[in-house]
Amino acid sequence: MDSISDPMLILTSTFEIIRANTAAQILFGIESLPAALAAAVPEPLVKLARDGELLPEWSPDGEHVYIARIQQVNPERPLPEHHLIFVLRDVTQFRKLSRNQHEFMRIAAHDLRSPLTSIQGFANMLQLGLVGELNEKQLQFVEKVLSGISQMTALVENIQDAGRFDPETGFYEMLREPTDLMDLVTEIVRKHLIPAEKSELTITTEIADDIPILSADTNMLERAIANLVDNAIKYTPNGGRITIKVFVQDRSVIVGVQDNGLGISPENQKRLFQRHQRIARQEHKRVKGSGLGLFIVRSVAQRHNGEAWVESTEGQGSTFFMRIPLDGTNGISTGNV
Ligand code: ADP
Repeated sequence: MDSISDPMLILTSTFEIIRANTAAQILFGIESLPAALAAAVPEPLVKLARDGELLPEWSPDGEHVYIARIQQVNPERPLPEHHLIFVLRDVTQFRKLSRNQHEFMRIAAHDLRSPLTSIQGFANMLQLGLVGELNEKQLQFVEKVLSGISQMTALVENIQDAGRFDPETGFYEMLREPTDLMDLVTEIVRKHLIPAEKSELTITTEIADDIPILSADTNMLERAIANLVDNAIKYTPNGGRITIKVFVQDRSVIVGVQDNGLGISPENQKRLFQRHQRIARQEHKRVKGSGLGLFIVRSVAQRHNGEAWVESTEGQGSTFFMRIPLDGTNGISTGNV
């Protein structure tokens, strides 16, 4: 045990330390075995053992980050043969690498934005004939350039947003302000009318008139809902219908984006909200994407104490939902607005 560099503890099933290897003794400041016997087992480990509570990462010394694993030895036998073994894997280096990678993505995405904006500006001027009339072929090409640019802008925005999130937990800094969901959704739909029209899709909204003003992160809610509408457009074949519903149910605002497109099988529905998860089917892969959109949607819902989920039948369509609770921090008294 002492030759293993990861901290290890062996405990009785009643959480008394029997053994602690050198790494664990250093980490927990346990000096020798008799002292180890007297030392209290750190509370997070007890929770992990007792309640099976997930302990994704833990930093007992504020410097190293560990993932704790628990192994039961002889769980069917009574004491003293029933033991618990804790191994703490030091993942500090992995965390650093993942942070660096993240930071790199965030900077790259940020730096890509300004040239994109400039290309878009010049292509727009060409399209408007500001530097001379274009023939039909030239106009067609400019349109293709513009459509490529908006695809790239959406990708870059998602990468940039995803850089704000903790890769494992989806945590990000909230910037709350009064949010009028009716305005927000109307504006999102307005921005998507042209892309929808290009794919011969109709977009309708059903917004209840009793939606209260929220205290929410307006920008991130906009990104989340826009991602759902983007997806509905991307994954619905020409001629389809998209409906965006906003209503209040059980003290929560529900935003639902419904399409009658490709749909998603039950096993794929489960993993879609994870970072970089895309469906491996041909008709999905034809559409460009980063697999970050739904990760952002779920994180934004969770940061507002809500949730995101999908109801879908393959081949018939999908409805993606976000639920934002009205009570607690998202609530705003009418007096403040
Ligand atoms: P992206 O669209 O960039 O790949 P998302 O995280 O937004 O990433 O979506 C993950 C996957 O979920 C997509 O690749 C697609 O296969 C599937 N998906 C998302 N929205 C829909 C939808 N409305 N209909 C069918 N499939 C969808």
